[in-house]
Amino acid sequence: MTGTQQTVLEINLNALQHNFEYIKSKLNQNTKTLAVVKAFAYGTEPSSIAKHLEKLKVDYFAVAYAKEGVVLREAGIKTPILVLHPQIIDFKTVINYCLEPNLYSKRVLTAFIDLAQALGLNNYPIHLKFNTGLNRLGFVENDVDLIFKYLSKTSVVKIASVFSHLVASEDLSERDFSNNQIEIFKSIIKRITLKLNYRPLFHMANTSGILNYPEAHFDMVRIGISLYGFANEAKFTKQLKNVASLKSIISQIHTIEKGETVGYNRAFKAEKKIRTATIPIGHADGIYRAFGNGKGYVTINGFKAPFIGNVCMDMLMVNVSDINCKEGDEVIIFDNQEMICDFADAINSIPYEILTAISQRVKRIVK
Ligand SMILES: *Cc1c(COP(=O)(O)O)cnc(C)c1O
Repeated sequence: MTGTQQTVLEINLNALQHNFEYIKSKLNQNTKTLAVVKAFAYGTEPSSIAKHLEKLKVDYFAVAYAKEGVVLREAGIKTPILVLHPQIIDFKTVINYCLEPNLYSKRVLTAFIDLAQALGLNNYPIHLKFNTGLNRLGFVENDVDLIFKYLSKTSVVKIASVFSHLVASEDLSERDFSNNQIEIFKSIIKRITLKLNYRPLFHMANTSGILNYPEAHFDMVRIGISLYGFANEAKFTKQLKNVASLKSIISQIHTIEKGETVGYNRAFKAEKKIRTATIPIGHADGIYRAFGNGKGYVTINGFKAPFIGNVCMDMLMVNVSDINCKEGDEVIIFDNQEMICDFADAINSIPYEILTAISQRVKRIVK
């Protein structure tokens, strides 16, 4: 037996570095980089990922919620951190930890200005988000005058950046829609530039925006899933390296006679004598119950072992009838992009969800 002795998610920082450098090779020299490390850095290990990227001189980080930024500050991260979706209740935390809020509506903009005023802040960096079609968060173009009604009265905040988000940057059949979003954003840039005597950063592109819409790089790009090895398109994903590998071990092997069943609700019935292996990872670890019953597989000693029966909370069972293996052997749940894409395809999902689902119960090992 070699390899892991428990369920672990291994994080490969060399692969991360390769991916960051690959994306940078697609940018103009002056284009700044923002690394998206929300949701535990896409399910990996945010502090190690951020520290490594800080060494590589990334310009910005983004998290979704304030407490994700707190974790990075407590790990010693000094680089600016944009909080993409801050809640008003967290604004004090945002300020205490020198995080930079995205202010996306009149409600959150005025709440932040009020607090900044009460605290006597000066030129506190904020970010403004514009909705150009996603209809999720953001001001609309015609809000520019309203925004400056509030901003021109105060010097407690300063606009560090203005941004928008593409709806379907990975989908080239939506090119017209994306181009239209880019045009709207350009018009927003013009209107805002006219109002300011300094220049904030403008940014719009996520991973697929970077790769498919070089004209939408503007001053900075927001690099998310590609840092972790995926680009929503096989030809680009091939150029990237897999960062997160999920490994486990065979806890026990059973011989199941014809007619016996495996797991809860007797979901699997043996039509002939088989051998099963029980693996210590379940739906509480992020292997959803939507898997199971033939959806999903692991590899053991190089061979595919399909999931059988229902995934349990803490373990799952696979068919190892044709595999030479024994208790204690290493199990690879995934260690390359193809396996992660297979996982995603099996339940009509995407690699983003497969990675971020890996729960905090799984030990992270950074290599
Ligand atoms: C998550 C997120 C990103 C990163 O997108 P990827 O497709 O993972 O590169 C960029 N911008 C915003 C606003 C996001 O929420």
